[in-house]
Amino acid sequence: MLRESVRALAEAKIAPHAADVDERARFPQEALDALVGSDLHAVHVPEEFGGAGADALATVVVIEEVARVCASSSLIPAVNKLGSLPVMLSGSAELKERYLRPLAEGRAMFSYCLSEPDAGSDAGGMKTRAVRDGDSYVLNGVKRWITNAGVSDYYTVMAVTDPEKRTRGGISAFVVEKGDEGVSFGAPEKKLGIKGSPTREVYLDNVRVPAERMIGAEGTGFATAMRTLDHTRITIAAQALGIAQGALDYAKGYVRERKQFGKPVGDFQGVQFMLADMAMKLEAARQLTYAAAARSQREDGDLTFFGAAAKCYASDAAMEITTDAVQLLGGYGFTRDYPVERMMRDAKITQIYEGTNQVQRIVMARNLP
Ligand SMILES: Cc1cc2nc3c(=O)[nH]c(=O)nc-3n(C[C@H](O)[C@H](O)[C@H](O)COP(=O)(O)OP(=O)(O)OC[C@H]3O[C@@H](n4cnc5c(N)ncnc54)[C@H](O)[C@@H]3O)c2cc1C
Repeated sequence: MLRESVRALAEAKIAPHAADVDERARFPQEALDALVGSDLHAVHVPEEFGGAGADALATVVVIEEVARVCASSSLIPAVNKLGSLPVMLSGSAELKERYLRPLAEGRAMFSYCLSEPDAGSDAGGMKTRAVRDGDSYVLNGVKRWITNAGVSDYYTVMAVTDPEKRTRGGISAFVVEKGDEGVSFGAPEKKLGIKGSPTREVYLDNVRVPAERMIGAEGTGFATAMRTLDHTRITIAAQALGIAQGALDYAKGYVRERKQFGKPVGDFQGVQFMLADMAMKLEAARQLTYAAAARSQREDGDLTFFGAAAKCYASDAAMEITTDAVQLLGGYGFTRDYPVERMMRDAKITQIYEGTNQVQRIVMARNLP
């Protein structure tokens, strides 16, 4: 029922704008309005804070169905979870009440600020500093590639509090607000895909944050950031599944209509085998993602492996499936008159963010079941 209702909403209110959002690289405001209107913008927030209280699998289904029609729009529920999960996992009761409720009510969005210009895969090499000064911390630094920067009101920012310890207890997490003095944003990045999702730098220039806005104890920020990714890599897998499903669905319809040699190209076994492989890879990726979502919900000990495996496998599958969908549309697939080239461009990012797929393989190797 959840899938059916999200699909109906996505097809009616989000899909019609997806090509324009991509073409003009503009924020999908229609999608935000539709998602907020149906309480689907941050479904993971628990009911006690006014949220829908969706479990990890239900959150996956929502993101999947939005991504099936518009990958950029699926970053609204996905990044709201990414940004706020550190507060849910490690924040004080006061922080949860203060920041989760506006998120649940659709009055604010949340971003996650880990990466920096010189610290991507090696996130522990970050330079952003937070220095204690009385009852507050003063933050200075640059966060790069921040999804929904400028649109979000709240930012979970990881910063170095003890340069000697770094990832071993020297990094702390804070909630920074858009309106805090000293917060500003860079120009939107010009990207290959997910063009409707704003990606900008976040500048922190002597930003004074009350100590109560630290998420968890001092020095626990890196562990919280990594624990968050264990859970949210599954939402990136969901996004990959959705993009791939959208491309497969479109290609399936197209090969029935397009005629060559006097018959639909779908009658050729060479085409049928491609579709069979696409559907097989997609279903395998879906099963792994759902198995990972169950582990996220239960906080199982093997979540780290499963989160990395689901993200890596589903994103690689999405890249292959969307590329094959372009192939199945022939020359038409290569043009912006059809949605599959957008889906192929959008799929690429799922192999890169929340840790590249090389990094996922490092994570899996260190956490073999
Ligand atoms: C559109 C977009 C949105 C993003 N959103 C966010 C966000 O909201 N918040 C946030 O914090 N970050 C975000 N990111 C950052 C993203 O997570 C990083 O880009 C990613 O982790 C890779 O870091 P990097 O770009 O510095 O690449 P690098 O770390 O410089 O990697 C370059 C290449 O080297 C490889 N490599 C690096 N180390 C190893 C190794 N040890 N073994 C094997 N290969 C290795 C990588 O896999 C990659 O192929 C976003 C990025 C993009 C492009």
